[in-house]
Amino acid sequence: MSRPDARPLRRLPTLEARKEVLERCVFCPKLCRTSCPVSNAEPRETLTPWGKMSMAYFVANESVALAPSFAAPAWACTGCFGCREHCDHKNDVTGTLFEARSALVASGEAPAGARAVLDRFEERAGALGKNARELSVLPEVSASANTAVLVGCSYARSLPDEARDAVRATAKLVSSQVSVVEECCGAPLLYAGDTKRFREQGEKLARAIAGKERLVVIDAGCASTIRVHHAAAGVGMIAPVEHFAERAARELGRLDRVEGLGELRYHDPCQLGRGLGVYDQPRAILSRALGRAPAEFDRRREDARCSGAGGLLPVTMPDTSRAIAAARVAEHDGAGGGTVVTACASSLRSFRKQGAQALDLVTVVARALGVSGRG
Ligand code: SF4
Ligand code: SF4
Repeated sequence: MSRPDARPLRRLPTLEARKEVLERCVFCPKLCRTSCPVSNAEPRETLTPWGKMSMAYFVANESVALAPSFAAPAWACTGCFGCREHCDHKNDVTGTLFEARSALVASGEAPAGARAVLDRFEERAGALGKNARELSVLPEVSASANTAVLVGCSYARSLPDEARDAVRATAKLVSSQVSVVEECCGAPLLYAGDTKRFREQGEKLARAIAGKERLVVIDAGCASTIRVHHAAAGVGMIAPVEHFAERAARELGRLDRVEGLGELRYHDPCQLGRGLGVYDQPRAILSRALGRAPAEFDRRREDARCSGAGGLLPVTMPDTSRAIAAARVAEHDGAGGGTVVTACASSLRSFRKQGAQALDLVTVVARALGVSGRG
């Protein structure tokens, strides 16, 4: 039998372009093993970054069967980029596992939860359009405005107060009306495993903002999807794309002190921090609103722990996702508690479900600008 590295990835041929990246993990002494929130919450060797990459590789080169137990580890990843920070090669585990999901779906092997997300995507995207149109009744919104705002499915559907704060605050920051984007960035397709439809959805979004001066993105997950994963998939954005925290940090002088916030501790969302390298701006915003620096987690910035809410983990491994969120909330409580502030809808919802007092950065900024729906 030929050596594993000499065999073509015949069963999942689309992974051939990722062979070198896969092999870097397969032949590695697992230097990043303590960094993965999934294998930390559920200590199994196949759930370490090494295990997930190895399973995808061995399915692809036909060393093991195309079977649920070997395919499922590809979906045991929140896409948090944590392993990359601990890897001497900065190996792209996140992007490679997303590619592996797509190759496995195309070969007929995927967890039921991922299949359901793919089947229901159009319905979910349609709901975003409906929610975006509801936000369009706000006086700050005009379809012809030069600044487009992508609120994101999770805010629009599940966090209406934060969605309104985001629209009002962005309009105030750019000193004009804004238009609310009705297209999804396609992240659910990327996470579930359909890179072709993901690329097409990215192109739809690019067309939707054609002619705008800029796109301000509220959800860290959507911002990272566009700036990291659309770029990797060859989708070109027509307008400059910035996350809300980047825009607000450029207008710091316009933010007033907010009374009554109490003790705030900032959680670095994986997609905003490790994904986009945005660490200082949220801290500068909170310092301005509080009149002092926010409290910190022990594990922060590049080393921040994940909330467990990304990469479709709440769908494919709900108990593990909850255990990861509970560990982060316990870290918050152990550091003194108070209110945890984040800038991503998924982590906000996960922390609240764990009983934590949690606030979104958009709400702090909206209060600091005097435009929050809640005063
Ligand atoms: S991500 Fe880097 S450190 Fe982790 S298993 Fe792969 S090659 Fe090794
Ligand atoms: S990206 Fe995060 S969840 Fe995925 S394998 Fe790496 S550390 Fe684990």
